[in-house]
Amino acid sequence: MQNLSGTSGSLNTHPLPSYLQADKLGPWGIYLQQVDRVTPYLGNLARWVETLKRPKRALIVDVPIELDNGTVAHFEGYRVQHNTSRGPGKGGVRFHQDVTLSEVMALSAWMSIKNAAVNVPYGGAKGGIRVDPRKLSRGELERLTRRYTSEIGIIIGPTKDIPAPDVNTNEQVMAWMMDTYSMNVGETATGVVTGKPIHLGGSLGRREATGRGVYTVGVEAAHHIGLTIEGARVAVQGFGNVGGIAGKLFADAGARIVAVQDHTGGIYREAGLDVPELLRHVAENGGVGGFPGAEVLDADAFWGVDCEILIPAALEGQITRDNAGRIKARMVIEGANGPTTPEADDILHDKGVLVLPDVIANAGGVTVSYFEWVQDFSSFFWSEDEINARLVRVMKEAFAGVWQVAQEHRVSLRTATFIVACQRILHAREMRGLYP
Ligand code: GLU
Repeated sequence: MQNLSGTSGSLNTHPLPSYLQADKLGPWGIYLQQVDRVTPYLGNLARWVETLKRPKRALIVDVPIELDNGTVAHFEGYRVQHNTSRGPGKGGVRFHQDVTLSEVMALSAWMSIKNAAVNVPYGGAKGGIRVDPRKLSRGELERLTRRYTSEIGIIIGPTKDIPAPDVNTNEQVMAWMMDTYSMNVGETATGVVTGKPIHLGGSLGRREATGRGVYTVGVEAAHHIGLTIEGARVAVQGFGNVGGIAGKLFADAGARIVAVQDHTGGIYREAGLDVPELLRHVAENGGVGGFPGAEVLDADAFWGVDCEILIPAALEGQITRDNAGRIKARMVIEGANGPTTPEADDILHDKGVLVLPDVIANAGGVTVSYFEWVQDFSSFFWSEDEINARLVRVMKEAFAGVWQVAQEHRVSLRTATFIVACQRILHAREMRGLYP
């Protein structure tokens, strides 16, 4: 019989195909390292760990659209379902010029971990289009979104895989996705995406949920390390849906937001920035750059700012071995997905900086996505207070569990979150068994 494994003699495990192998510490490579780190803690479940190193399903689609000038442009789109052992795929869709398959694979895997860590009944998925949406008109963006949704329509659905907003996508994009999917299946299927506008089956509190979750776990962790929020200095990278809301909640609790950086520049004010004014400025100007009443802070100086709390809430790969050594914060709360490289993680650990990892710190968004999905199915909508109270309860419980595992095994919070999540996923995997 032909040796299908390609290795001498053994049919046991195929070597990973090249596109699944660790790229030079790109996001997927980082994810694989994180899985290797937890494998020794998985006991008998380690038998199934290979499952986590391969996405269940990865779809690459061509997305052609007619531009306003009459020409046709082609964009590359992806939807990756990393794991569905615990439930349907779930995770956002990002529009960014740097999106790659490897990145979307890693982001889908982090969704599996995140969803298991907060114990919502989902697997992990992610999607994206390699495009700079700022260069598109509204009409072009709508056509792009609709064609992409149609192309991935064969694998998404309210009980199969439920997209949501991520970098550069919002409620409007979700409304177009929901409408396109609904037109294709011949019924209004609100549960196919979350993060929708309120009057289209969206949930109160969803827009603020990620930032609120960041704030909630930040407060919990601060208690553990004896850090008082009142008067604490906070630096935030990215002041959108995640960083802006988290910054506002910290400021409301008496913290000083001393530095903010985004793609338009960096600003600093020792006495604390006026956050409501800054949010207005960002809404009007598209970024923090040019905010009156603050000093200009150059990109590199941001990382060395005197502060107690640092919140990276932009893109991945921001805290690296080049800037980690200069970070003065006592605590880093990862609002973004994958903002800290593994080398930087180790540097921060050695310096005694507590890192609250993305897979728990920014899980508030998907938690309220879950509430939205449940509300859509039951066509019964909850009050904002009820949603926020449930969100806080989920985040606190998940964080307490992870904290305990970290103490027990003397590991970082990232490794502890992976231990909790991988055990849940692989336990489900084992109980379901292999088909056929
Ligand atoms: N894009 C968000 C995340 O990275 C939310 C995903 C969702 O709500 O499904 O967690």
